Amino acid sequence: MSTIRILPLETSRRIAAGEVIDRPSSALRELLDNAIDADGHDISVAIAQGGIQEISVTDDGTGMSREDLELSIQEHATSKIYSPDDILTVRTLGFRGEALASIAAVARIEIATRQRGTDRGWQLSCAPLQTPSISSFPCREGTRVTMRGLFESYPARKQFLKRPQSEALLCRAMFVERAMSHSALTFRWKSGSELDVLLPGTQKDRVVQCYSELSRMPVMETTFESDLVRATLVYADITAYRRDRRLLQVFINRRRVPEWSILSLIEYEFGKFLPGGAHPIAFLFIEIDPALADFNIHPAKKEVRLKSAAEIRAAVHEMLSKELGTRYGGSTAPLATQFSKMEEFSFSAAERSPIEPYGELGSTVNANPGFQPRESDRGAFQVSRPALPDDFWQRVQRGDASMPRYIGKGPGPFILFELEGALYILDQHAAHERILYDRITSKEGESQSLLVPYVLEVHEDDSFLEQSKDKLAFMGYHIEKEGEAWIVTAVPSIAASQSLEALTEWLLEPLPAQTTPLDAIAASLSCKAAIKDGDILDQYSAEKLISQALALPEPRCPHGRPVFISLSKEKLYTMFGRIVE
Ligand code: ADP
Ligand code: MG
Repeated sequence: MSTIRILPLETSRRIAAGEVIDRPSSALRELLDNAIDADGHDISVAIAQGGIQEISVTDDGTGMSREDLELSIQEHATSKIYSPDDILTVRTLGFRGEALASIAAVARIEIATRQRGTDRGWQLSCAPLQTPSISSFPCREGTRVTMRGLFESYPARKQFLKRPQSEALLCRAMFVERAMSHSALTFRWKSGSELDVLLPGTQKDRVVQCYSELSRMPVMETTFESDLVRATLVYADITAYRRDRRLLQVFINRRRVPEWSILSLIEYEFGKFLPGGAHPIAFLFIEIDPALADFNIHPAKKEVRLKSAAEIRAAVHEMLSKELGTRYGGSTAPLATQFSKMEEFSFSAAERSPIEPYGELGSTVNANPGFQPRESDRGAFQVSRPALPDDFWQRVQRGDASMPRYIGKGPGPFILFELEGALYILDQHAAHERILYDRITSKEGESQSLLVPYVLEVHEDDSFLEQSKDKLAFMGYHIEKEGEAWIVTAVPSIAASQSLEALTEWLLEPLPAQTTPLDAIAASLSCKAAIKDGDILDQYSAEKLISQALALPEPRCPHGRPVFISLSKEKLYTMFGRIVE
């Protein structure tokens, strides 16, 4: 009997909705984004019981017609994009058309709206699994969305919510995050007896409104413009600094992002004027062409993938060195030497893995789990490990002629060698990937301290990090909890420069994958750190790679693809219609 079942639509919908809306603050994020996208200038938020009982967001934006109101809570209903390419140019915060539908799937929702320039308002009410009702409703131009009873009918989800006070803090943090990057808009906040109004002003005004401790110190604002980037930096005078990174923030296209390459650059430039262990108070707001910033990687748009990342960093570097150089004196070296020096300091591997050169960051995993050669290939090619003599390693080192002989580079990732009369074709990336993977998973990894410790963004329940601490430490990650924050102070030296990226990617994975950090991170790290398809190896490196690949207990990459194949002498002769000598 079959055990696989297609999930009923209602179940799959609820799972999908739970990925977008997992707690009150994510509903608030979506409602704020909608209010901003709808050209709201005065946006009010009110929450009760940390948003679990109720969240309402009111705006004076465009409002909706009755027809649009009806469509708005349907899945994939959006007025912001139409064709797939529109994602490249979209300037709104939302575009997936799934937020209101998701909220309606997990909570009761009420939307009151009146389209600008019309004299009649409408109200929609809906509860999970019920048909929405719409009726005429007297209201001002704009929209008010109210969400009540989040996860009321889904105890499985509700148990993951924190206490109302903690959820309220997360909501407040979300409110501040959006208010920070929209200084021209008015934002109002109400939670219990807590009231706050943020009036429109300069970027600096907004930063100071959001973080009132800054009102007691000199704060500067400067802007910078290049072909690629428009940036505004708000920072506190270097006489003020912090022991943590709470007030070091980067926003790209009005979303706060954990873009560590830019964060480290800011730390580095300020670090020249600050005492050791001090972190600057600086907020950088970067605007780039939306085509260069892909936010479509994560449902919560928490992450950005930058194209032209190097140019963006160069522009930020120019801005920082000019500004800080003028104000505090001293000149700074051009970016190329500066940045590579910094990476060398923070990330140079203590123990290099065996093959050089390494090539650059970033090939992505081509997930093809369980790849097996086709039946018809099996006779022709051998993909299993050849029998190796006991003294294989000594003979390789002595350059024994009966040992593998490197022939040269083939097309793409392939290199060719001969061993005991057979011709071998080896996939250099897959081979190196497997070698690194085995090393990472088999023995305790050495650590490389970070010059600049890295703060992990862990908003939700962090118990899985606590549980995974030992496994992460085995790989070489040193992670400590300091108050509410998780700080990375050291990373595996085997692939130091890729380690933070692999760790943050893993943190963004949905929960089930987080239970096996060793496999998941080892696979991602080894793929990122392995030599790339196009890298050209010198003879020594190629030979070393070949010997190590031959000694692999399982000559397949972590995704199951073969590391090498061989054609026996007999096979070659037969292929050419010759008689084997
Ligand atoms: P998205 O924002 O990705 O388009 P949503 O589910 O958040 O998807 O919203 C669906 C649609 O409902 C939006 O595209 C917009 O047309 C409309 N909408 C939502 N909120 C508002 C609002 N506050 N004011 C006006 N229109 C809104
Ligand atoms: Mg939206």
